[in-house]
Amino acid sequence: MTGRGQKTKEPPPRSLASAVPVCCGRFAPSPTGDLHFGSLLAALASYLEARARGGRWLVRMEDVDTPRNVPGADARILACLEAHGFCWDGEVLRQSQRTDAYRAALAALREKRLVYPCACSRKEIAAAATGLTIDGAPRYSGRCRQGLPAGRSARAWRLITEDVEIAFDDCVCGRIRQNLARDVGDFVLWRADGPFAYQLAAVVDDAFQGVTQVVRGADLLYSTPRQIYLQGLLGLPVPEYAHVPVATNAAGEKLSKQTRAKPLQARHAAANLVAALAFLGQRPPSELAKADVKEVWRWAGAHWEIGGLRTKD
Ligand code: GLU
Repeated sequence: MTGRGQKTKEPPPRSLASAVPVCCGRFAPSPTGDLHFGSLLAALASYLEARARGGRWLVRMEDVDTPRNVPGADARILACLEAHGFCWDGEVLRQSQRTDAYRAALAALREKRLVYPCACSRKEIAAAATGLTIDGAPRYSGRCRQGLPAGRSARAWRLITEDVEIAFDDCVCGRIRQNLARDVGDFVLWRADGPFAYQLAAVVDDAFQGVTQVVRGADLLYSTPRQIYLQGLLGLPVPEYAHVPVATNAAGEKLSKQTRAKPLQARHAAANLVAALAFLGQRPPSELAKADVKEVWRWAGAHWEIGGLRTKD
């Protein structure tokens, strides 16, 4: 499929071409299960928005949390994307092969004294919590900020958060403001017995891959200020963000592997795409439900408008 921007006959003048970074979107599934309708929404919206701007679209396998990975899920995710007509640029990046980059980022933060080791157990964190985080977890009290208690060793490394507002303009949700110290607290970047945290890995990889626009589910909207804060500390560029609505089941729960969302069926690819387009506010004509995958993509490429999703001006 050719993006609208790629149809331009004349290349932009050299000076302009080098000043404007090439638009680049991405889809970053975790191989903890099969793709479901909720994941299709993020894949489709990120793809259409990147292609509409003549940009690249990458796939990143977020397999950093190895114990949660389901064997074979990564291959099934890629096959399912292909069956739905997605084509990504370049190789799939696997976070399990990027731990050196995450370690280097953590070392850079350590050098600047922006992180500290924390010995607290889950129980201790809950007992000393100073309220709840925006994600509904006990907010860390900051107990180990002044140093590890005698005789204790580090279970995790935490980032020092500041009592300042982080704000950004989301392309769908409008202006979002968050005070990290109040709404999140000092958060974990690495567990001594396990993987690097999603927040750190995503930030390091979005920069490494040259991602300029992150389009993903609104369940990650309130992770974004943490990521923007980390980008600032690590001297990384801040992409544009667009958080699309998440699909829920009859019980009002977000469709996810945890809520046992049904895997997408490749034989229903065209109908799945049409349903996803409708969910994303694109008003596909009813006849499109009977069309083939190619036809659905043609319609989607010609009509995609992220404004159809905007919840605030
Ligand atoms: N791996 C995350 C997920 O599957 C998405 C992370 C992101 O898009 O930043 O929900």
